[in-house]
Amino acid sequence: MLIKSVFFSLTLLGASVFAPMQAEANGNSPGNFGDGKPPVSGFISHDELSNELQKIERSSQGTVDVDVVGHSNQGREIYKATVGSGDKVVLVQSEIHGNEKTGTKALLQMLQQLGSNNASDMRELREELTIVAIPMMNPDSSELNRRGNDMTWNEVVEDFPQLEGAPSSWNYYTYTNEFWDYASNPGFDVNRDFNPDLDYTPQPEDFPGASAEPGWYITPEAQTVRDVYKELDEQFGQVDVFVDLHHQGEYLIDGTDDEVTLSLSGVFVPDPNSDEGEKYSEYADNYNEEFSKKLNVAAYNALQQKGNSPFGNISLYPQNLDLPGTALGSFALNGSGAVLFEVTGQTQTYGHQRMGQLVNAVELGLYGILDSVASGNVYEIDADDYDDIPLTDR
Ligand SMILES: [Zn+2]
Repeated sequence: MLIKSVFFSLTLLGASVFAPMQAEANGNSPGNFGDGKPPVSGFISHDELSNELQKIERSSQGTVDVDVVGHSNQGREIYKATVGSGDKVVLVQSEIHGNEKTGTKALLQMLQQLGSNNASDMRELREELTIVAIPMMNPDSSELNRRGNDMTWNEVVEDFPQLEGAPSSWNYYTYTNEFWDYASNPGFDVNRDFNPDLDYTPQPEDFPGASAEPGWYITPEAQTVRDVYKELDEQFGQVDVFVDLHHQGEYLIDGTDDEVTLSLSGVFVPDPNSDEGEKYSEYADNYNEEFSKKLNVAAYNALQQKGNSPFGNISLYPQNLDLPGTALGSFALNGSGAVLFEVTGQTQTYGHQRMGQLVNAVELGLYGILDSVASGNVYEIDADDYDDIPLTDR
């Protein structure tokens, strides 16, 4: 029962919804609203990821190109896998939260397919798109099967001596409870460490910060993804699409008894062109909410086409967020079409078959996005269809 209730309250990107309350309650555990410790059976370790990527690169005969683009704070490799030679760029990452694991499996399945399948639809994707995957972008948290990375505030100050004497950031976990021992092994929520100013360097006056303020790129994991993003930006002029793969709690589709399979979202900050988003006005020309909405509809439609099955139970994640420190918020402000996947709960509770279904749902949604961008069909989608995706009951 305990586990069950923990799963129900587990929340991922949306931890922010509860974060201020929680942060005020005990000061040092923002963003962790009772997320429990699930088993990891059926998912892959960082070592296995390394082997899998090598195998995929080899069997694709170079169609998939795997590079080490950085290292976690504990020195684990962060990989980038690139496939395709088109001029539209799609960047996808998984496991920024290490206890949200279906995305990594979905990315490996997709890379395997994109690298070795010569069917015409796969060839078209490779010709039209440059697909860049960063699976398990936060490997230290994956190894610990928890949300936070594995890094102390003292290590941050060693890297950025100007922060000597500044308060530690609000997303720094040092608490202990029945599931987590951040006290003896602290870490940061890396998905609050992004900043829409890709050249930002940490300034002491910007700490401790808050959920509705940008992050600082103090973690090597966020720095690595930022660097990949900047490099693609320079090479292609724009990262057209950014997708971030997460898990959430267990919910129902609003107004039904149907359990949500996954939730989607394309809105993470108030529109810089609106009064509410005025603080982001310098990004107003880049920001493209309409395109984000179209991409979400493309993923939604691909899943709906599977008909009456778990794949059909797709909902919209809560809207009206202001999360500039998330990778999605920061990159959306830089002009990328942005898509959040939030897979239901901890898949292990359903056994391997259910886990396989959820991995396949993620993969199916991703192909919906890839296909629509490669074919150009995404531009024909009515962005207003986004608002017709059923809400999540939460
Ligand atoms: Zn998450």
